[in-house]
Amino acid sequence: MAKTYKSLETKLIHAGEPDPLINGAVSIPVFQSSTFEYSGQTDYHDLKYIRLNNTPNHIALHQKLAALENAEAAVVTSSGMAAISTTILALLSSGDHCLAQECLYGGTHEFILKDLSALNISFDFIDGNAPQNWEDKLRSNTKAVYVETMTNPLLQIADLKAVVEFAKSNKLISIIDNTFATPINFRPPELGFDLSIHSCTKYLNGHSDIVAGAVIGRRDMIEKITHKLNHLGGSLDPHACFLLHRGMKTLAVRMKHQNESALKIARFLENHQAIKKINYPGIESHPGHKRACDLFDGFSGMLSFELKGGVEAAERFIQNTTLPIVAPSLGGVESLITRPVTTSHSGLCQEDLQKLGISDSLIRVSIGIEATEDLIEDFKQALEFT
Ligand code: PLP
Repeated sequence: MAKTYKSLETKLIHAGEPDPLINGAVSIPVFQSSTFEYSGQTDYHDLKYIRLNNTPNHIALHQKLAALENAEAAVVTSSGMAAISTTILALLSSGDHCLAQECLYGGTHEFILKDLSALNISFDFIDGNAPQNWEDKLRSNTKAVYVETMTNPLLQIADLKAVVEFAKSNKLISIIDNTFATPINFRPPELGFDLSIHSCTKYLNGHSDIVAGAVIGRRDMIEKITHKLNHLGGSLDPHACFLLHRGMKTLAVRMKHQNESALKIARFLENHQAIKKINYPGIESHPGHKRACDLFDGFSGMLSFELKGGVEAAERFIQNTTLPIVAPSLGGVESLITRPVTTSHSGLCQEDLQKLGISDSLIRVSIGIEATEDLIEDFKQALEFT
């Protein structure tokens, strides 16, 4: 009898798994073979070859990822940036124009700013909270609009419903980076986004031990992106596929803990006298709180904040925490702490950082799955040094 399931928790375990199991193996084995016996394929992209993203490890992941966001199809890539760059290169060409949210992950921001111009693809940045101004930026050659579910590192929430409506009424491809939210908290295709992108390096894998990406969404677009990926060569190695597959099985339990823990920690920080400003969409004072409640099932494990004592205090706080590891990246089982101007956003010039509101003293924390009380105790003692 066919397995039936609706919930994300069950999909994480069962969706896309080989049926029947391969030699009865409960965990999908790693298909460490670069090429596979020819079986009469007539299309280049159907040949069985690692770079063409179609080993059993790739196929299982594609099906699982599509099921998680209730989408038609998915493809995994060698990194989040490979997912982002390949998507844009597959769907836009020389002479096209796109709109992008103004506060994006540093790597994406730099790719749009520097690499797209070199390819004669023009762009305009838009304020995700000001839909009334988007029309002014439209051109006859505008093809796509690109946003993030929660911006990195300020956790701003754009008017995502308006983005989808604007894209539909102007025949634009709508693309969203859903890395921070994960499918547990938000499934963009359900709202009407054409494509949802992930850096699987983060929450989806969850163990800070691989780099990987994914694009999820409309079948026709995923096919185009896969063909571009096949040519550019950014395919995910089968062993990394295996690790991602294994990591994803615990996504729901990890993410629920991280959602709850980050909310408690944000509340603790919000009430502490040393804190100047905290950015976490789960707390009532966040300007996007109502929108986040409306759209999301949880607020993620990411938060950022500024201390009254400025950069020096921020550095003293970071140096005196004992549990979070001082490192860029996010979404792992261990808490990580960083000042984005020194890591994820170091590629942005001072003027852009200022315009976006990313101050030198901003601290970003990725809450892991340690006990919440231990993290709060640790933050409490480190705040004494500020
Ligand atoms: N998207 C977001 C929101 C990110 O934070 C990052 C990396 O930090 C990326 C994309 C890029 O992902 P990767 O490092 O896997 O290429």
